[in-house]
Amino acid sequence: NGPLRVAVLGSRQVGKSALTVRYLTKRFIGEYRSDTDMLYKCVLQVDGAPQSVEIMDTWASCDQSSDAHLQWAEAFVVVYAITDKQSYTWAANTVQELSERRSSASVLMLGNKSDLGHLREVEEVEARTLALTHASRFSEVSTAESCTPVADALDNFLKEVKTH
Ligand code: GDP
Ligand code: MG
Repeated sequence: NGPLRVAVLGSRQVGKSALTVRYLTKRFIGEYRSDTDMLYKCVLQVDGAPQSVEIMDTWASCDQSSDAHLQWAEAFVVVYAITDKQSYTWAANTVQELSERRSSASVLMLGNKSDLGHLREVEEVEARTLALTHASRFSEVSTAESCTPVADALDNFLKEVKTH
């Protein structure tokens, strides 16, 4: 049984690094290195048992996910910011592409920065409907504000990936 490989995808500045670090350390730092992929290898409790997991916090050099990222992982967390319509379009295209090219992979779509509701550009119901269409999971979260929703969303997702 090899590690579960999870890629965190999304356009720039949506909070991919914040989310990854929040999940793995329970901390929000605020500023993150943003010019390269970061690979985190860890052992997590998944469904009550230790499981090695590799999480790739990706960096998009262009305005698309790279093929290498799409091939590498078996599970994908696709992040956008609710305050950034363009980032949602990017995420929607990626979810669509994954359903065509990696139809057996598990996908979790996350609308991040839910603490910035006054700057909202993406309606929750629109994103939820899109995710449903592609049999993806969906949550809105704030990595800045609180650990619990982020941890719950990712814990549940990993559980599903493992038993998939
Ligand atoms: P990445 O480029 O997708 O890895 O994004 P980062 O993780 O570097 O975050 C981009 C910026 O958004 C940083 O200034 C973070 O502090 C900020 N940020 C990340 N998540 C949140 C969030 O949930 N709420 C708010 N208000 N800011 C966030
Ligand atoms: Mg980053």
